[in-house]
Amino acid sequence: MTDKTFLLLRLFGEGLEGVAEGVMDARPMYREETISGALALLQETVLPAVLGRDWANPEQLMAHLAHLRGNRMTLATVEMAFWDLWTRSLGLPLSTALGGVRDEVAVGVSLGIQSSVEATVDSAVQHAGLGYRRIKLKIEPGWDVAVVRAVKAALPDLPVTVDANASYSLADLNTLRQLDGLGLDYMEQPLAWDDMRDHAKLQALMQTPLCLDECITTAQDARKALETGACRLINIKVGRVGGHLEARRIHDVAAAFSAPVWCGGMLESGVGRAHNIHLATLANFTKPGDTSSSSRYWARDIIQEPLETAGGVMTVPSGVGTGVSLDLPFLDTLTRLKMYVDPASQPAAGSPA
Ligand code: MG
Repeated sequence: MTDKTFLLLRLFGEGLEGVAEGVMDARPMYREETISGALALLQETVLPAVLGRDWANPEQLMAHLAHLRGNRMTLATVEMAFWDLWTRSLGLPLSTALGGVRDEVAVGVSLGIQSSVEATVDSAVQHAGLGYRRIKLKIEPGWDVAVVRAVKAALPDLPVTVDANASYSLADLNTLRQLDGLGLDYMEQPLAWDDMRDHAKLQALMQTPLCLDECITTAQDARKALETGACRLINIKVGRVGGHLEARRIHDVAAAFSAPVWCGGMLESGVGRAHNIHLATLANFTKPGDTSSSSRYWARDIIQEPLETAGGVMTVPSGVGTGVSLDLPFLDTLTRLKMYVDPASQPAAGSPA
């Protein structure tokens, strides 16, 4: 990927601004939501229901939207922007308001599918040298056992994980069993994006812990996955699960099952990256997350503050809210479409039927 289009929401209130980005793609190739669908839902339904009203806290705001089904990424965009706005109004860092317990978070690196095994090993060794705490390799059928074996041989002491992004099925059991013997820290989402049952079948046959990503969008999903043995840890992406409140519930459910969680990423700009970093300060985020340096992803970020890792840790941005602010002149040069939703112009703003 060499460029990215995403939705950025700026919420205004009490002379302050809260910002968040949507993690849905242009096409539904990760989960089912899309940018154009999200824009329509925000403009027609979600924003008219919340703008121009007083909200005491994110819980109250989200209770007002609780009747809307699915669309967790769209809801997360509003919820996260409100958290930023609300914590700025309180004069608190987002991590403090969430109940975070640390001011820096451990990070790993996620390596996409490369041109060759050698190139992958080189990249893994280079990132290990930069201090990253784990190497995650994207795999798919035909690009799996050989590359994992080579990276493990080069870096025997560093945790190595794989993420299959739902590209295998139980018909691939032979390959999955070979991966099981390679000492992986965990294997992420090998089977279908919406199939917990087959993950439970697979976990029963594997030593390597399974980690679910795409399958989990609510705390109830997390409870069912852990209860049925579909996974032993969870990749929490706040933008996937409806925002910080649900992310924290998933974190708490996992803790009740003694299952670790870690903070994944969706190739966010500094806006979403900052939200992720604050969330990852909660106690049960005990595995290194994907919140690596902004400069790994962007020639130039849209925020003013640098978000860079050093020695395998990312320092939580200081200051109130997310602690980051938009580089508005630069953002203007990148903006393809602007939509204003003004509470005063909304017919019957308030309760959606
Ligand atoms: Mg994943």
